[in-house]
Amino acid sequence: MNEILTLTAAAIAAKVKAREISAREVTEAFLARIEAVDNDIQAFVTVTPEASLKAADAVDAKIAAGEDAGSLAGAPVALKDNLCTRGIETTCSSKILRGFVPPYNATVVEKLASAGAIALGKVNLDEFAMGSSTENSGLFPTRNPWDLTKVPGGSSGGSAAAVASLEASVALGSDTGGSIRQPAAFCGLVGLKPTYGRVSRYGLVAFASSLDQIGPLTRTAEDAALVLNVIAGQDSRDSTSVPRPVPDYTKALTGDIRGLKIGVPIEYFAEGISTEVRAFVTTAIGILRGLGAEIIEVSLPYTDYALAAYYIVAPAEASSNLARYDGVRFGARVTSAKDHIELFENTRDEGFGAEVKQRILTGTYALSAGYYDAYYAKAQKVRTLIRRDFDAAFEKVDAIISPTTPTPAFGLGEKSDDPLAMKLSDICTIPANMAGIPALSLCCGFLDGLPVGMQLQGPAFSEETLLNIAHTYQLETDWHTRRPTL
Ligand code: GLN
Repeated sequence: MNEILTLTAAAIAAKVKAREISAREVTEAFLARIEAVDNDIQAFVTVTPEASLKAADAVDAKIAAGEDAGSLAGAPVALKDNLCTRGIETTCSSKILRGFVPPYNATVVEKLASAGAIALGKVNLDEFAMGSSTENSGLFPTRNPWDLTKVPGGSSGGSAAAVASLEASVALGSDTGGSIRQPAAFCGLVGLKPTYGRVSRYGLVAFASSLDQIGPLTRTAEDAALVLNVIAGQDSRDSTSVPRPVPDYTKALTGDIRGLKIGVPIEYFAEGISTEVRAFVTTAIGILRGLGAEIIEVSLPYTDYALAAYYIVAPAEASSNLARYDGVRFGARVTSAKDHIELFENTRDEGFGAEVKQRILTGTYALSAGYYDAYYAKAQKVRTLIRRDFDAAFEKVDAIISPTTPTPAFGLGEKSDDPLAMKLSDICTIPANMAGIPALSLCCGFLDGLPVGMQLQGPAFSEETLLNIAHTYQLETDWHTRRPTL
């Protein structure tokens, strides 16, 4: 295997800028890797070799001219296929968007390109980001690089699988209820969901607008900091992005967490979380204590209600956001219809998969005149209580540690017929979206060859703290240096 593939984005950018390797060499190595392994992994929906090599040559030309090529110069990145890319099909892994070629780039896509990153293509997801295994993709399932019979998690399963299998140095995903962190946990990566408003969502195809955030999936905390540096910040094209200065997140990586107060919430170590996963996280907590953190027990009593409230709020917003796919404005359209109503109906019937339809129905119901108060308004009240839980906990601690998922990656097909079991895999990740706070998953061990993830949550805009805890842990351990054999 080509050594270049094992380099972090930080290392690639350093070597490219020092002219030890060229951006073209790096890009060719990753494109060859995709050729070699993606038949097995199926992470990519679209690969764009021509555009990638052109971007790489532009980086090399800048360096040759003595110009600044950017903090991610030459680093190959995979983009979740719900991020709009100008001139490149953006499918959301849904049949209804087949053929949709956006006339503009998402802000994060532009920002990555300006920083010298090389987009390799678009990667698979659960249709419209609804799911936890990437099996809901309307195109094909993606496989977990650590064990091809397991799911990579979801909905950013393609992003996670691409980075874990060394088909990309880093990836972008989106996280509405865990879709960055859960696949990061299943694939042994760092996955960061930033604070709501930290990263512009312009050009991210909306699922649930009050919950969605874009973030990085990487192998190291350092790479996550590097990518966040580039993508964070206010954007006049997303009114929910927050006008707050962006620090240099890599400066926060001091490797020193002495005196930091880390909370352990009893509710996240309860029944429903496998004893093995609890044991791995408990061991990691011991390591953090050894590094000088103060470990304090905390309680988040409304945790139990987060999943139920999420499955009202998220489908309600989705039902509204997905109303625009009617076969007229975007993507695919049926050919047989006697009038425009039938055209809408048939296009939506053929274009959307079962999970998406189910959510549109639930969401429409929860918003309907007679049921709004009983469901949507009530779920919003629960959401406030969840946020207050975190506010109270963060008066005592700087961050909260827990498992990311109840179990490591499950088998393909194992939970397809059991929607509740599937949804329960997000039980630890959903509260952060409901509260709008940042949360990060990182690998804390392997169980029968499969990665186990732990989650760090912090108050709004505490990404620096979370990244530094993760970085300090990675300095002390070597889980993040393991590679799947493919
Ligand atoms: N798995 C959750 C869902 O299906 C979360 C998805 C996400 O974060 N996009 O809604």
